Amino acid sequence: MARIDLKNLAHSYFPDPKGDDDYALRRMEHVWEDGGAYALLGPSGCGKTTLLNIISGLLPPSHGQVLFDGKDVTRLAPEQRNIAQVFQFPVIYDTMTVYDNLAFPLRNRGIAEKTVDARVREIAGMLDLNGKLKHKARGLGADEKQTISLGRGLVRDDVAAILFDEPLTVIDPHLKWVLRRKLKEIHNKLRPTMVYVTHDQVEALTFADKVVVMYGGKVVQLGTPQDLFENPAHTFVGYFIGSPGMNIVPCNLEGGAAWIDGHRIALTDRHMNAASGASGAVELGIRPEFLTLDTDASASNEGGIPVNIVKVEDLGQYKIATTRFGNAEMKVKIGEDQMISAHSGVLRFPTEWTKLYADSHLVA
Ligand code: ADP
Ligand code: MG
Repeated sequence: MARIDLKNLAHSYFPDPKGDDDYALRRMEHVWEDGGAYALLGPSGCGKTTLLNIISGLLPPSHGQVLFDGKDVTRLAPEQRNIAQVFQFPVIYDTMTVYDNLAFPLRNRGIAEKTVDARVREIAGMLDLNGKLKHKARGLGADEKQTISLGRGLVRDDVAAILFDEPLTVIDPHLKWVLRRKLKEIHNKLRPTMVYVTHDQVEALTFADKVVVMYGGKVVQLGTPQDLFENPAHTFVGYFIGSPGMNIVPCNLEGGAAWIDGHRIALTDRHMNAASGASGAVELGIRPEFLTLDTDASASNEGGIPVNIVKVEDLGQYKIATTRFGNAEMKVKIGEDQMISAHSGVLRFPTEWTKLYADSHLVA
């Protein structure tokens, strides 16, 4: 397994790119540590497949280098890079048995039959394919074919990394959950370097130790699921991670506070100092989980903002209240046992969870 360095990497599909918009990948430096389980998370079109194909060698980057354990592999073909890649749709041989499909990547490398047999049975066991080894792939369903594709990706134990490009798209939700757990188990056992591409935050957060969030051809944050939740480095991460995402509203800074439509939210010196040097439009961000909503009619407005409660959705284990003040709307997550019958309340912003963004990037 290998550490993968991306040095000054960028890619444009155009022969003569002009501006940033012509780049599917904007210039990046990035390290995938040896043995890490990474999710590469981002919306459709943000450049995930482009990045994965550059790592595997299917696509030569227009700028920069790819290093495996310090060695420059930028111009090497996929076969020379020793990478396993699993795609969105099954890539298997219909006329072969499940066993032969799984054995293929090993036999292709001239591995001894005894070792092939042991590996095939081990991986088949992990993926519950043991009962199907003698079946021809042709007769199997899409789910099973994709499971075989996963097995083919996992069967070699000498690859530099295993890359998965939205591999569970065609799989039904229950089996998806099972397979994700299996992948995680396999990672814990064998410790390959894994990069798992998805546009689904639940998939990313349950699979990976580290999540790389991409947006508009750029990596906007690399962090643990907890980092992404508690400290989104970019408004996109705040908005994309979480259900619902972070509340993000334009604000002005003045006199040690943020002002939204004439309402004051007290901040700390730390916020004010960090924001003083920043350029670009300033926004305040706070997650629905960290706001508190006081609906006690006798509550004082002290330290909070009077709001209208425009909607309360009961989602079983919790409720989401939508509140409004001026033109701003904020969602608040509240416990299932907190009753809300009032149409107004007082919203409070704990300073440690109140973030400031300038030009979409976290400043404090
Ligand atoms: P993702 O996998 O995150 O959905 P892609 O890497 O497939 O994103 O695409 C990133 C951008 O590059 C998109 O704007 C897409 O339209 C463009 N793109 C992808 N493949 C090609 C290609 N072969 N030729 C030209 N543009 C492409
Ligand atoms: Mg893709």
